[in-house]
Amino acid sequence: THFGYETVTESEKQDRVAGVFSSVAESYDKMNDIMSLGIHRLWKDHFVSSLNPGATTPLGKPQRMLDVAGGTGDIAFRMLQHAHVHNANPNIHITISDINPDMLAVGKQRSLDLPVSYQSNLSFLEANAEMLPAQIKDNSLDLYTVSFGIRNFSNIPAALREAHRVLKPGGVFACLEFSKVDKYPLLNAIYKRWSFSAIPLIGQLVAADRDSYQYLVESIDRFPSQEAFRDMIVDAGFAVSGDGYENLTGGIAAIHKGIKP
Ligand code: SAM
Repeated sequence: THFGYETVTESEKQDRVAGVFSSVAESYDKMNDIMSLGIHRLWKDHFVSSLNPGATTPLGKPQRMLDVAGGTGDIAFRMLQHAHVHNANPNIHITISDINPDMLAVGKQRSLDLPVSYQSNLSFLEANAEMLPAQIKDNSLDLYTVSFGIRNFSNIPAALREAHRVLKPGGVFACLEFSKVDKYPLLNAIYKRWSFSAIPLIGQLVAADRDSYQYLVESIDRFPSQEAFRDMIVDAGFAVSGDGYENLTGGIAAIHKGIKP
């Protein structure tokens, strides 16, 4: 592959991922829209409404959520909106965490445009998902989300174990990630062509950064299938219902959920 990924060590992979996201931070939101033809917004809206944040908060105790690899805030901001508007419930707290300070800085800047009451529900944390800091305590969270982040982690089982550790019993792990379109050969062919030819080219033209977007495409290709990833979630100790996942747009993306027993 482009970066010879299979032969590099975990820390080398982490450095590369850091480099990619530092260089795409500024163009990240615009590029998401271009590369996905805007569809990532629909997936994210669906992901958040399926989690219904703010619905189950007991009186007095805020619902505590952690958005891991939260980057520029797309998921957390939707969760705030959903809790405040759909559930008329401001009694929530969301920590946006990311390993990359440049992505977090863009998220912080964007959060200043939110209503002040939303901003007071929010905090930011620079953290590696594979080794969350001690301030995120065991059994302390109601909801853990990770959206388009987990495929970049060097050690996915370690991150899943951390998710399991920090969630309360009954707490929900929810992941939105690119996945496999194997069941639809024609859609798969079009999608593969789009991602392997168009996306690096668009990255070059729009963000002057072909390599980073090439990396993103390859990281999608390497990510496990819906079933294999579901099995990893189960191995980390989560209970899943039904298949354990929901395909979006034929499997271009998928939502996986697990509950900590
Ligand atoms: N969640 C956002 C979204 O849905 O638009 C951002 C996704 S962005 C494609 C992936 C993010 O994962 C980047 O911000 C990157 O810094 C972060 N990331 C990569 N490796 C990480 C790790 N080990 N721990 C925490 N965040 C990580």
